[in-house]
Amino acid sequence: MVKLQTALHEHIHNLDDLVNERTAQLEKLLEEIRHLSVTDGLTGCYNRRALQDKLPEEIERAQRYHRPLAVVFMDIDHFKQFNDRHGHQLGDEVLRSAAKHVAGTLRQGVDWIARYGGEEFLVVLPGIDLEGARLLAQQLCAAVQAAPCIWGHESIFVTVSIGVLGGRLQPQDHWSLLLQAADQALYRAKANGRNRVEVAV
Ligand code: GH3
Ligand code: MG
Ligand code: MG
Repeated sequence: MVKLQTALHEHIHNLDDLVNERTAQLEKLLEEIRHLSVTDGLTGCYNRRALQDKLPEEIERAQRYHRPLAVVFMDIDHFKQFNDRHGHQLGDEVLRSAAKHVAGTLRQGVDWIARYGGEEFLVVLPGIDLEGARLLAQQLCAAVQAAPCIWGHESIFVTVSIGVLGGRLQPQDHWSLLLQAADQALYRAKANGRNRVEVAV
């Protein structure tokens, strides 16, 4: 009888261990799935879906604490032509390196970057006013222009155009309106010659 009880206890103990191990594995998998669901596969930036969740939260936080918030909308210039000339593979490499470059200039755990579309990135800068964001955007513009993408023996340069929006938010400011304003500034940067920064009015 005692032997049977001991064997039973041991069996239950083993089962507990197995359940704990499986639970840990499932939690790890779940975390990986969560990460994948908000991450752009090519660049490692947040994806558009994450942007749509995070930006309204960021706006709400800025409004609640009466802090400024800036948004930098960046688009690679003549990227279609670039792909046509150098191929999609190198195009992908340029996207990866541009995203990495921008991410490297941001404040860790505060600023963040999302891939909005094909060759368009959105950088969100909590607590930064319009002038601060404009300066950062100009530095980014200059840095991308100066940093070649190295491919074999080739050094290939690209430029970016940037629209910047920033300042204190109004209670009625919806995230899609902010994006629209930043996009209009970006459009002006394109129209005014590319490789430049324009500020939303
Ligand atoms: P503009 O200076 O006006 O922005 O011109 P553009 O050629 O950059 O803009 P357009 O919108 O005409 O083309 C965007 C190009 O981006 C077209 C598409 O092939 C390329 N693209 C989008 N996503 C990817 C991607 O994941 N990898 C690569 N290599 N190219 C991509
Ligand atoms: Mg574009
Ligand atoms: Mg473009």
